[in-house]
Amino acid sequence: MNIELQICGLAMLIIFFIFIEHDRKLNVKNRLLFITAFVICIICLIFDIASIVCIHEAVYNGFSPILTKIVCKIYIMLLVTQGYCGYLYGCFDIVVQFKYKAIRIFAVLLYIIGEILIIVLPIEYYMNGRIVYSYGPANLCTYALAIFYISSTLYLSLKHRRDISHRRLVALFTWQGLWLVAALIQFFSKETLLVGFAAAVGMIVLYSQLENPNEHIDRFTGLFTQNALSLFLQDKYKYQVPFAFYTAKIKYLAPFTELDIKNDAVMRSARAFLELGNEPVFRINDDMFCIIYDSGDRAYDKLLEIKARADGVTGMPVEAKFIYCPDGTLLSGVEDVFNFIHCYEDSAEDIVVCDQELIERMLHRRKIYNLIETALKDDRIRVYYQPIYNVKKNRFTSAEALVRIENQDGTLVYPGDFIPIAEENGQIITLGMKIFEKVCELLAGGELQKLGIENVEVNVSAAQFDHENPAGFVSEYIDEYNLDPANINLEITETADNDLKHLLLLNMEKLIRLGVTFSLDDFGTGRSNLDYFVSMPAKNVKFDLGFTQGYFTNSKIRDVMKGMVSIAHDMDMKIVSEGVETKEQYDEMVRLGVDHIQGYYFSRPIPEQEFIEFLKDSDNTRNI
Ligand code: C2E
Ligand code: CA
Ligand code: CA
Repeated sequence: MNIELQICGLAMLIIFFIFIEHDRKLNVKNRLLFITAFVICIICLIFDIASIVCIHEAVYNGFSPILTKIVCKIYIMLLVTQGYCGYLYGCFDIVVQFKYKAIRIFAVLLYIIGEILIIVLPIEYYMNGRIVYSYGPANLCTYALAIFYISSTLYLSLKHRRDISHRRLVALFTWQGLWLVAALIQFFSKETLLVGFAAAVGMIVLYSQLENPNEHIDRFTGLFTQNALSLFLQDKYKYQVPFAFYTAKIKYLAPFTELDIKNDAVMRSARAFLELGNEPVFRINDDMFCIIYDSGDRAYDKLLEIKARADGVTGMPVEAKFIYCPDGTLLSGVEDVFNFIHCYEDSAEDIVVCDQELIERMLHRRKIYNLIETALKDDRIRVYYQPIYNVKKNRFTSAEALVRIENQDGTLVYPGDFIPIAEENGQIITLGMKIFEKVCELLAGGELQKLGIENVEVNVSAAQFDHENPAGFVSEYIDEYNLDPANINLEITETADNDLKHLLLLNMEKLIRLGVTFSLDDFGTGRSNLDYFVSMPAKNVKFDLGFTQGYFTNSKIRDVMKGMVSIAHDMDMKIVSEGVETKEQYDEMVRLGVDHIQGYYFSRPIPEQEFIEFLKDSDNTRNI
């Protein structure tokens, strides 16, 4: 009998099915459709073989013609079902996403009507040697339906080729193409029964190209990967299925943790998550996991359970940090989920709970991130200068460089809105270099120096310094613009992080040797204290504007400032008072013995050209 190819196909599919059943499954809609199509393909092959056996027996051994026709009909009905499943698998999300309601209804109706027609229409069969086939109106009906489903699948996937991956397009075309070619060959060469085998090969193509879950499995832990999470969540949002989740991050307490310990911690956590329940567990980066639940309550219970286990671990320098989201629909999509996780993964709290407020903060940070990126790209970073008055020399000898971002409509964004975020997300490095370069450009022109400016004060964050290249960008730009390092004064603030402080000191020493000077900024705020005053090799101390203004309202602040002025002078440091707005404040600061005065009393921060005009207008060269 002519059934060798079908048996091969069937054996192949059954072997693969065993593999598929053993895989760790991710229940996304496409996968369910795939499994359905796969199972139908197996049943179809069984009936393909059965129909040939029946025809053979009917022709040669008097087997019941009615039963033979029924088996033949079931076979062609399954063929149609297979076509329908293929269409669903290939186009379901396109049809849903682009709301092809008419096509959707038409496809279902056609399927039902087609199957009924096959049942009622007559079928004949024929066998002679190796040539076996059935024919008649029921078969014609099958051909028509198959052509409809194959062409709709090909048409829709081609039309939306930009919305689906290239890989999927190729796999779908290979699959449907195999069908088509096999059917044509079989049509012209009736003894080559290829269709069943081609369908089986097509299924294997789909499995290896699109549905192979091993691609979504992390090799080390056997958990799902971040890509898998992305797919899984896409499905949740697309079909509006509610979900909750939490992430757990292993935080290593020692500054350098050996790889063995890390691997052990990851492996133990992975096992613990799997023991927790049946929900899918994803490893979304080296030391972070995410588990998706149907309900917020269950997610929270499980989070507490795993937290209790983590807290109970002894002898390992690690702790666990969690982000808990009771309702995934609070976030607007997959990208937001990842942004949220990324934004809060390093928070100090043990459990960050995703609520409207945190989401808004995250969106704000995202907005600022984009603002800085586009401003850098479009060259909309502006540096303003605020003159600093030298009491002894009775003129402006310095200026503070203060950054702004110019919006496309010309309005300004002030640093308080973006510097803290840039410090957190690392953009401060590129941004700080840009600001510094602009200052160097201005100084390289030499005009400021001619107008009596001895140095420009530039704010720097400790995060801008690099371990590998101490003094890094500062000395590079000084060289590039051929500047006198004494023209540069860097303003630094206190940092709570000891590593950063160490890094800062290392850089300061190197730069001071070059001739750069430093100011301690914001003295008198929480960002600055006495320890920092004593330990930093700075030339100036800047009284914060709140401190300066407090002088006039608070007698304790007044006493502290008096004391500070004399301590600073004993230590050979100069005092700069910020935020001086009135003549009275100015007079009082001079009486206190402050060396430099900065504030709206003289000028607000102004653009470069205006600053040059300001110096000219104030006859700044008079005492040089
Ligand atoms: P800061 O270093 O303490 O800068 C002084 C701030 O006080 C400036 O605000 C300035 O415009 C404002 N100011 C000056 N005089 C007066 C006054 O008389 N009265 C009042 N009420 N305010 C006065 P700005 O420009 O908005 O800068 C805010 C902060 O942003 C700066 O505080 C600094 O910490 C940071 N920043 C500014 N530019 C840079 C920069 O280029 N790099 C870095 N890392 N931080 C910067
Ligand atoms: Ca400053
Ligand atoms: Ca300041």
